[in-house]
Amino acid sequence: MERIGFIGLGIMGQPMAHNIMQAGYPLVVYNRSRPAMEILGAAGATLAESPKAIAEQSDVMITCVSDSPDVEAVVLGSNGLIKGVQSGMLYIDMSTIAPATSRQIYTALQAKGVDALDAPVSGGDIGAQQGTLSIMVGGEAAAFQRALPILQTMGKNIVHVGDAGAGQVTKACNQIVVALTVQAVAEALTLAKKSGVDPAKVREALLGGFAQSRVLDVHGQRMLDGNFQPGFKLNLFRKDINIVLQTLRELQLPLFGTSQVPALMDALLAQGKGDLDYISLVTLYESLTGLE
Ligand code: NAP
Repeated sequence: MERIGFIGLGIMGQPMAHNIMQAGYPLVVYNRSRPAMEILGAAGATLAESPKAIAEQSDVMITCVSDSPDVEAVVLGSNGLIKGVQSGMLYIDMSTIAPATSRQIYTALQAKGVDALDAPVSGGDIGAQQGTLSIMVGGEAAAFQRALPILQTMGKNIVHVGDAGAGQVTKACNQIVVALTVQAVAEALTLAKKSGVDPAKVREALLGGFAQSRVLDVHGQRMLDGNFQPGFKLNLFRKDINIVLQTLRELQLPLFGTSQVPALMDALLAQGKGDLDYISLVTLYESLTGLE
């Protein structure tokens, strides 16, 4: 079995790495801060002292860290993966980062004989825990086939979308749909409340028709419950929308709904809600409309 090295044991990476180990793969892990590593160490994983050490002890290296500069640091930095790789290895980045950065890293690793895939995920912390993530993959077909059994320990809907960067473009598309759907659900529940109609009943009725969505189902219920614990932190979602905007600028693409999302997110950030879930957007509408 391939030896797996996993870097980035946060809300997503911790359960993803755990699922790889449960499937029987030998696992070595690195996390910037120690406590997250020790949880997996106690469950049987080997601990490494740096990304370079991960590369030296693995066949397949996986990262799930925060943003583009973080992936650059972990892969290309002074103690990065690239310092320990050998030809024939495979690198899979499961973070959400800019497509342009994924393509740069792909090129840098190809020069060392290492295949690279961008494989961002959707499905949240629950999908990560249950091994049911949706995984969108960019890179060579042969690398995808090699990665597939490993990805199947973490996800269910695994699609090879296209060349390097295509997975991240797909994730950007995903974030547009999620951000605008969260906004639509928050606005609909606000209208219901302001009209004196029970928003829980409105959600229940909408779930049976064309307005049905996972966002309405799961996040709509969490909005009704006032449960804004992440899930997916607003700070990270704002980062994803920056990636979307950067990509739109590169293509000179005007997407009107998407272009207003950052202002709503910034209004919540200004209220100090960066560590809450983006679904706390409903509280902004409630305060603006006198419902709070
Ligand atoms: P998180 O809980 O904040 O974890 C981030 C992880 O990255 C931590 O292990 C952190 O290490 C590590 N990290 C960050 N910067 C680093 C650096 N410069 N060097 C080394 N390690 C670094 O975030 P998360 O929710 O797991 O998200 C991880 C990725 O998955 C992000 O790209 C996010 O957009 C994406 N994602 C998240 C969700 C979700 O629902 N949470 C869903 C889909 C995709 P420390 O522990 O030392 O801080």
